[in-house]
Amino acid sequence: MNTDAELAVKKSDTEQALVSKIQREMPSHLQLKAETILSQIKGSRATPFEKLDVLYQCVDELYAFVGKYVPCAVGCCHCCHYEITISELEIDYLEQKLAVKRRNLPVTSNSVTTHGLPCSFLVGSVCSIYSQRPFMCRQCVTLDTTSRWCQVDVCNKFNQIMFSFKNVKRAYAFLADPGGRGKFADIRHVFPFGLSESQRITEGN
Ligand code: SF4
Ligand code: SF4
Repeated sequence: MNTDAELAVKKSDTEQALVSKIQREMPSHLQLKAETILSQIKGSRATPFEKLDVLYQCVDELYAFVGKYVPCAVGCCHCCHYEITISELEIDYLEQKLAVKRRNLPVTSNSVTTHGLPCSFLVGSVCSIYSQRPFMCRQCVTLDTTSRWCQVDVCNKFNQIMFSFKNVKRAYAFLADPGGRGKFADIRHVFPFGLSESQRITEGN
């Protein structure tokens, strides 16, 4: 029987090994994409929503590659029960793309934990806004061979390494948190009712 300390070391070793493997095997065109996204976004004259689309597309391409090394799959949704922070830019984006209305609340940092509650856009075990899902959801992967450490009752047991790309995070901060003045909230607080059934049919989600 492993002790918690032994499990933590084992887990960390697995994570570190996966990070190294992914970094070593990532094709050069994806590495370049990850490095240049910040300057691409900064130099763009597109609208904020168009820039967000460019960033989302970049993240999706990068994590499609990362996805080959992790157990994340359609229908695996422990992470849709975590606190999901969404920026005001993304709230505006969802309102426009999905014709949903935010609840009339000021957008502030979360004061009430939502850990363990299903995201309001989760239908069964599938995301109903997958193509428009926020940045945070797009880069949520677990560095392991199974989803065992993603379960809500054990995910906080040990520190987990989040796989991320430095300039991708900076590009998101540039768009969503300019000058550190961005506003964020948990997705459930802003859109507590998700999509209606008719909206889901319209969106094809
Ligand atoms: S992060 Fe964990 S819970 Fe989320 S899809 Fe990946 S394996 Fe499943
Ligand atoms: S927006 Fe979609 S992917 Fe993100 S937490 Fe909600 S259901 Fe899961």
